[in-house]
Amino acid sequence: MTGQPFDTSVVIVGAGQAGLSVAFYLRRLGLDAGNDFVMLDRGPGTGGAWQFRWEALRLGYAHRVNDLPGMDELGLSFDTADRQAPAKDVVADYYAQYEQHYGLQVVRPANVTRVDGMMDGFTVSFDDGVGAQQVSTRILVNATGTWGAPFIPWYPGLDTFQGRKVHTSDYRDAEDFRGQRVAVVGGGTSAIGFLMELEKVAGEVTWFSRRPIEFLEEQELNIEAGSSSVRQQDEAARQGRALPSIVSTTGVPRSRRIQAAIDRGLLVAQPMFTRVEPHGVQLPDGRSLPVDAIIWATGFRPELRHLAPLKLREKAGGITVGQGASWRNSRVFFAGYGPAASTIGANRAGRTIARQVIATLSSLD
Ligand SMILES: Cc1cc2nc3c(=O)[nH]c(=O)nc-3n(C[C@H](O)[C@H](O)[C@H](O)COP(=O)(O)OP(=O)(O)OC[C@H]3O[C@@H](n4cnc5c(N)ncnc54)[C@H](O)[C@@H]3O)c2cc1C
Repeated sequence: MTGQPFDTSVVIVGAGQAGLSVAFYLRRLGLDAGNDFVMLDRGPGTGGAWQFRWEALRLGYAHRVNDLPGMDELGLSFDTADRQAPAKDVVADYYAQYEQHYGLQVVRPANVTRVDGMMDGFTVSFDDGVGAQQVSTRILVNATGTWGAPFIPWYPGLDTFQGRKVHTSDYRDAEDFRGQRVAVVGGGTSAIGFLMELEKVAGEVTWFSRRPIEFLEEQELNIEAGSSSVRQQDEAARQGRALPSIVSTTGVPRSRRIQAAIDRGLLVAQPMFTRVEPHGVQLPDGRSLPVDAIIWATGFRPELRHLAPLKLREKAGGITVGQGASWRNSRVFFAGYGPAASTIGANRAGRTIARQVIATLSSLD
């Protein structure tokens, strides 16, 4: 212990599945929410990234959504949740009850703009919608997810496109594309969800993917179960490389909805176009396909901009993380990062990270 006054021992940035899971285990290990640890989240409401997902998305459309640790104590489970209601509302509601039940006292809105290292800890700067604020802490847990860092791959002519360019994070409603010619790009369940929603609404829909789609035999994908995706994510994180796309390694489960769409011939992906033109895309055979809109369901990257002052990024393009702990700074932890970027992974990361946080704090006392 250095004697340096800190406002709190632990700051958790982000109150999605990963941040809430860390908070649950910290509390269980004896830390007091709002005092020993402080959670900051920039979202206006509960639900993490789920609160921003599109209206038509329902729980269980593709992947399993795992319960938060301790959610059974509230008599809640995503397995028995309403599957007719928008997932965004169900998750936001369950998380709200969870935060309240466990008294997690999340500060929101609190948009963390930067984290600076100081002697034996950090200064976390955030905007609470009224003005700039700061909190100092001995340990930082980053649980900011990926929703705020949408990824669109570069194609020649991309900037010349005159139609609508929409990423998954901007997609709201199929009605926005009524009667239009739409290109959907991406090989994952988001792209497939959009195709199914647009089927009867858009004028014409063409699906493009960088690689042939692998449809799995499972009805519901448990991202962790037997998946090489987690191993590849873990290897990249441990080597400080940029994380590979999760979609490219998981495959797509054959839920009943997806199987029905395959059977009616909807889910036939074309090889990627070679360039974007002002009013369409150029196909590999040189023909032009006119389109009014391109929907990029091409994934996300970890949102880490606010950590730039800590200089954690490696030359290889990523940050080195093993078991949720930063290799470069033993007081920084990453929840929901890389191999933990699923609801089950986030739960597990919460437990592992909380234990390490307590061990680190004990070593400082
Ligand atoms: C379309 C889509 C569907 C998915 N479906 C599933 C599924 O069915 N099952 C599954 O297991 N996984 C699914 N995933 C993966 C999913 O994102 C994770 O499982 C999990 O919900 C992510 O939790 P998280 O806490 O890591 O991130 P998030 O839920 O994104 O939470 C991060 C939080 O950090 C906050 N934040 C970010 N930056 C800052 C900042 N600078 N300052 C303050 N706060 C900040 C955000 O406001 C947010 O509340 C899906 C992902 C996508 C994109």
